[in-house]
Amino acid sequence: MEDDIFEKIIKREIPADIVYEDNNTIAFLDIRPNNPGHTLVVPKTHARNIFDIDDKTLDSLMHTVRRIAAPIRDAVNADGMNIIINNERAAGQIIFHIHLHLIPRFTDDGLKGWPHKECTPNEASAIAKKIRAKIA
Ligand code: AMP
Repeated sequence: MEDDIFEKIIKREIPADIVYEDNNTIAFLDIRPNNPGHTLVVPKTHARNIFDIDDKTLDSLMHTVRRIAAPIRDAVNADGMNIIINNERAAGQIIFHIHLHLIPRFTDDGLKGWPHKECTPNEASAIAKKIRAKIA
């Protein structure tokens, strides 16, 4: 396992601006925020990302997200919020202990999303068919 800096925050071995904690989760400010109030929600038990987390731990994460999203929004007077998980290096994950990013958004704040790509109806239905086969 790569060096798990969030484990050190959970154990209070390094400092963090903690905003919420319960038996299963902890939430603290991102040290390099995309916007003021950018918060990370982290489980106290280890999972790498969405591909290995168990349902119970994911439920506890979502419970915390629901609990703190509106208070974060209100604290920084945001107009909206992105909630994101980066899974694996190709998707931008750099800390391999699963976490949700809660990123407050402000009208015209200049943060750009991902560009959309063209996809023909045939390509889309072929991809959907492959996904259905993997889920089955
Ligand atoms: P990700 O790219 O999804 O793995 O995001 C990792 C996030 O953790 C980044 O946004 C970092 O700025 C943030 N981060 C790294 N180290 C710390 C730390 N010690 N305290 C708070 N946030 C951190």
